[in-house]
This record gives sequence, structure tokens and C-alpha cells, in this order.
Amino acid sequence: MAEFLESQLDFIFFFYGLAFILLGAVSFAIRRTDDHLAWVMLGTFGLVHGASEWLDLTALILGDSPNFAWFRTAVMVGSYIFLGEFARLVAAETGFKVPGRWIYPVLLVPVVLGGWAEGNPEANALGRYFIGFPSAMATAFVFAYHAHRLGGRDSRLAIGAAIGFALYAIAAGLIVPEAPIWPATILHYGWFIDLTGMPIQLIRGLLACWMSFAIWSIWGQKLIEQMASSGYTKHLYRLYVVTLVSMAAILVSGWVLTQYLGGIYKQNIETESEGHVALVKSHLARELEMLDAMTVSLAGSPTIESLLSKDGRTGLEEANEVLKLDVKAAGAIFGLVMDSTGRVIASATGIASNDTAPEIMVSPMVSRALLGQPVHQLIYSGDRDETRYSVSSPVRNDTGEILGTVVMEKSLDRFSRDLAGIEMPFVLTDQNGIVTLSNRSELLLKPLWPVTPRAEDAARARYGSLSLPPILKTEITDDRWQDLLGARTFVQIEPAGHSGWSIVTLTTARGIFASRVLGIVITLMTTATALVYLAGRERRIHDRLQMDRQMELEALAKDLSQQASTDALTGLSNRLSFDRRLLLEIARADRYDTPLSLILFDIDRFKRVNDQYGHQVGDEVLIELAEVISDRLRKTDFLARWGGEEFAVIVPHGETTSAANLAETLRQAVKSQPFSTVDEVTCSFGIAELEMGDKPADLLARADAALYEAKLNGRDRVETAPKKHNGSGLHRVA
Ligand code: GH3
Ligand code: MG
Ligand code: MG
Repeated sequence: MAEFLESQLDFIFFFYGLAFILLGAVSFAIRRTDDHLAWVMLGTFGLVHGASEWLDLTALILGDSPNFAWFRTAVMVGSYIFLGEFARLVAAETGFKVPGRWIYPVLLVPVVLGGWAEGNPEANALGRYFIGFPSAMATAFVFAYHAHRLGGRDSRLAIGAAIGFALYAIAAGLIVPEAPIWPATILHYGWFIDLTGMPIQLIRGLLACWMSFAIWSIWGQKLIEQMASSGYTKHLYRLYVVTLVSMAAILVSGWVLTQYLGGIYKQNIETESEGHVALVKSHLARELEMLDAMTVSLAGSPTIESLLSKDGRTGLEEANEVLKLDVKAAGAIFGLVMDSTGRVIASATGIASNDTAPEIMVSPMVSRALLGQPVHQLIYSGDRDETRYSVSSPVRNDTGEILGTVVMEKSLDRFSRDLAGIEMPFVLTDQNGIVTLSNRSELLLKPLWPVTPRAEDAARARYGSLSLPPILKTEITDDRWQDLLGARTFVQIEPAGHSGWSIVTLTTARGIFASRVLGIVITLMTTATALVYLAGRERRIHDRLQMDRQMELEALAKDLSQQASTDALTGLSNRLSFDRRLLLEIARADRYDTPLSLILFDIDRFKRVNDQYGHQVGDEVLIELAEVISDRLRKTDFLARWGGEEFAVIVPHGETTSAANLAETLRQAVKSQPFSTVDEVTCSFGIAELEMGDKPADLLARADAALYEAKLNGRDRVETAPKKHNGSGLHRVA
């Protein structure tokens, strides 16, 4: 599990960084509605810290360097300063006594000194202890404090953020890279992964998502409050769910894709590794099998058998000759024949070697060979820095009795020379797992994996020295992926002939993360596209809502002005707009010297209608009457309800006579109108024409007088006001 999660570290860094960047973006968005510098600080923290995670990801993919590691530590510490500043500003505004900005240089002193004296892991750990932890804790505190003051949902969200930051303070501020200072010696990444089976980065990533979500919700709450619209709230909640679900879906499918792409690359590496191991194996087999075959054939040769037989006729010289030929043919260092007591009867050395036989005498292989077992042995000599292959074969007579043994020994120099050039590292390990031959000199005499102290001692005794630490962290018995110096490495293990040694190839996949990057990049693009789309949708909903509001307001304003100028019952213009219009028409008539008449009319005995049929019916009569009149007017005429059951018509361009004609038409229309509820309705009409110097009131007064006249004269008739300038045929001439 831990190993699997560690192999996913790239994706973990990716989504961890993404969560922080979103936290930053959301904080900046909050600032739009809540203009406080503190949000800028939190936003900057999110963006910078997210960037530092992505720098870690870069280091993981492209490889690290000391300068780059320093740079990342600096970025990380810098991001924590912004977080601290957020908490400091909020706390100060809330009324707490807080230290000034001088606190940051003070806190930086131990970080810089520690790093300068000890190195980057120490600076990283101290940066987390002195700046990361207090900043995140202070942030948790200010959120908790505000939660306590706020109510309801706001409070829950703030508590959520507070818990997130407090846990993050522990995960990022106390669990640090391993460094030789307390408590980094104990509470470090390795300790955490041993304890939980999870890399701490995974926990931090999940916390980052949590914090980002909490801040995002706080922002949403602010938007909801600002818009104060249930429709928008509903939209926003839906958007929340859609965003969460789509983010989760994108991240999961992105991870699957990344895993798949990494898998393809892994497969390639494994295939490549098969090829390498086969190459090493075939080279080694060529060396070993040839010597095996030569030894067996020598042990079975009649010359050697005859030499060792009691009644053998072969002389020593002849046997030496055969032995020498075989040693040469096999490219061996030496060959020898021993009798059943272990005494060397004949021996021969290869051309290239000055070695003599005796050192083989004590070997337990001789006694095993004399028991009839063929012995194959790889031996590494630390003094000579050379690996040799030694084979012995029993010599038997016809009856199967063992007469002695033939031993041949060969150097693996040629083998190692042949394979020195291959790029991928391989090693031969002895029975105890100690590297005895490799194309990488730095791996020589290292244990392949941790071995017992006894095995270490034995190796030291045998080879003169042993170099530590072991190459791999754990023992392997079959082919598998392992971490080798921070790189994913496919380790394949094969037996080296019958020697008890093993061939191990180490195929490092530097590019395995690089091939996963494609998956990560695709995930990032998809995430960004989805977020831009979702943010755009939120904006659209927001803008549409605001536009609707605007239009509502405009409609309301229009409605209000309409209401102000019209009569609610009949829908005709009211007294106010009549007065305005009359002023306008009089001005126009004066300006263009055109005639203008005014008709006032009043329903006859309307009180009776009300009394007889009720007020409701009276209203209906008023409405119907307004329609009857409107239908008979020209567009230029202006009809208004002037009072209760009194109406006025402005007749522009109308002289008294034409106005009187119109009034007569109207009178007849009303009289002949079959009202739905009342048998008959009649009106009395008064007419006046505009004269020089008339003000609206003058005209109205004359029309009213004429109307009064009509009432007096028996109602249901039209009366015209007499002209001021009597007899004058000319109209309004001074
Ligand atoms: P006349 O004008 O012929 O002298 O008689 P009249 O009965 O019409 O007399 P007057 O002008 O004194 O009375 C007008 C009545 O019209 C009084 C009032 O109850 C009624 N009236 C005024 N406005 C409305 C209205 O909006 N609805 C109804 N139903 N009645 C109204
Ligand atoms: Mg009346
Ligand atoms: Mg009246």
C-alpha cells in the first residue's frame, strides 16, 4: 500500500498543488466582494504554496539539484509568511494585540542559521517549525474565533476551515523531512509512512482540498448574501454540486489515465529489462557451460582414468599434456587432477596466469567432488578483485568407483569485460547477497539488500571489506519494482548457473514519471477547462439575475410613471396629465397661431345611477362611457378624466364650431349607447375656444361655465361659451 501510494506521489503533488491554487483563486475572488488586504494574503499563500508543490512535482519528474531544493524551500517558507500575514491582519482587525511585521525576520533567523550551518533538510524542517506551524495555527485560530462570533451556516463553514488549518499545521508544520535535529529525527516522513502506510503528502493534499472547499463555501455564502435571491442560491448550490462531482470525476479519471500511461511505460521497461537479463545470462552461460563441459569431458577421458588407476599405464607426462591442452582450450587459469586422497597428481596452468594450484587444496569443493558430486563454484577474491568460476568433476572407473577428481578454474574477466559497456546496471551476488561483480564499480561489495550482521562479518572475512549501505531497502525474491536512489527501478533476479549466485539487473526508469506527466497535464487542462466553464456559468447566472433585476426596476419605474399619469378606473389620462397636456397644447396653439377648443362634459344625474344600482355599476358605466368616447375621437384629440364623472377633451386645431360638432356627435353616441347595466346615460357638454392671452384656468372656467349652462338648460345638450371679443369675425386677432 505504502509503496503503491509512494509511486503515486507525482499525482498527489499535482492535486495537492491544484487544491492550494484553487484556494488562492477563491481568496482573490472573495476580495472582490469583501475588500480586505487579508484575503490578498491568503490568496497569495494559496498560489505560492500551490506553485511550490508543483515545483516538488517538477523535481520528482525531472530530477532534483541542491540549488533547486534550496529554491523550493525558500518558496515554501515564503508562502507560509503570507499565511501568517493573513492571520495577523485578521486578528489585528478583530482587536487582538498582535506582533508587527518584525516577527517574520525574527522567525526567519533560526531557519536561515540552521540551513546555513546544517543544510537544506534542516532549513526545510526549521521553516516548517518556526513559520509554517505558527502561521497555520494562527489561521486556524482566527477562523475558530470568527466561527464563534458568526451564526448558523457561516459559523459551521468557519469551523470547517479552522479544523482544516489546524490539522494542516500538524501535517505540514510538525511532520517534516528527516533531519538531524529534534524532533525531525523522529517525526519525519518515513516515520509517518511506517505508521500509517500513507505518505504525508497524501494527507496534506486531502487537507488542502478540505481547506480549499471551506474557503470556497465561505465565498459562496458571501455571494448568496450579496445577491439575496433564492433563485441564485439554488443555482449556486447546484453549481457547487456540479463542480464537486465534475472535479472528483476529472481527478479520478485523470489518475486512471496517468496510471495507464505510466503502466505502458513500465511494461516497456520490464520488456527491456527481460532483454538485459537474457543478455547477461547468455554471456555468463557461455563462460560457465564451456568450462562445465570441458571438465566433464576431461574427467571422462581414458587418459585421466588410466592415470588414476592403480594399474594405470598412462604416464604423468602424457596426462599433463592432455590437461594442458584442455586448460588452454577452455581458457582456464589452471586445471588439475587429484587422486582420491586429495593429492594433486597432475596440474597445468593457462598462459596468462602465474597462479599455481595449491590454494584450491583446502577447498571443501574437493571433498564434495570426491564424494561424487559435481561442484560448480563462483569465487570472488577481494585481493585480486577478480571473480572466478571453479568446476570439479569426479573421475570414475568402469565399475563406478571414484578414483579422484578433475578441477578447472577460469576467470570471469572476459565476461565482465564484454558486459562492461552495457548501459543498464547489473550485478552478480554471492549466496549471501553481496555484490561480487558488476558493471558499476560503486556497487561492488555492497549487500544487495539488508543482510544479517553475521552475513556481513562473513563477507568481510571472505572479501576483506564490505561497503554499506545496502543497495535496496528490502530483500527481493522475484522480479519487482523498487526504489533505488530515489528512482523507480525494475529489479530482476535470476540464478547464475548452478553456483548459488544470482544475476540481478537494475533497470531504472527515470522517465516513468515523465510518461505519467502526460496524464497529469491532460488532467490539468481538463480541470482548467471545467473550472473556466463553471466559473463562466456562475458569472452568467449572476449577470442574468442582475439584468433581470435591472429590467424589473425599469418596468417598475415605467409602471409608476404610467400610474401617475393615468386614471386607474377608466385607463384614461388623469387630471395631472390633462393639465400638462393643456399647457402644451395652449403653447403650441399660441406659437403656431392655430385654434384650440376644450370640451368639458359631465354625466347627467349620475348620483341616481349610484343610488339605484350601486357604486359598482356606477364604475362600470364610467368605464363603458370612456370607451364610447375614446372610440369617436381623433388621434390628435386628448381625452382625460377630469374629475369624478366629469371628462375633458382637448381639441387642437378645433374652432368652436368643429368642437361643437364633435361634442354633438359624442352626446348622441352616449345617449344611443346601449349600456349593459343602465338603461340610458346622457351627458351635458360645455365648449370654450382658446382666446388671446388665455391661461389654462381661463379656458377651463369658460368651458365649465358652458357646461353649467347646459345643465341649467335641461341637460343632455351642448352649450358653447360666448367669445370674449364679441362680433369679431377674425379669430384671435389683436
Ligand atoms: P348632475 O351632474 O346632472 O347635476 O347630477 P349628478 O347626480 O351627476 O350630480 P353630481 O355631480 O353632484 O354628482 C356626481 C356624483 O357622481 C357624485 C358621486 O357619487 C358620483 N361619482 C363621482 N365619481 C364616481 C366614481 O368614480 N364612481 C361612481 N360610481 N360614482 C362616482
Ligand atoms: Mg353629474
Ligand atoms: Mg359632477
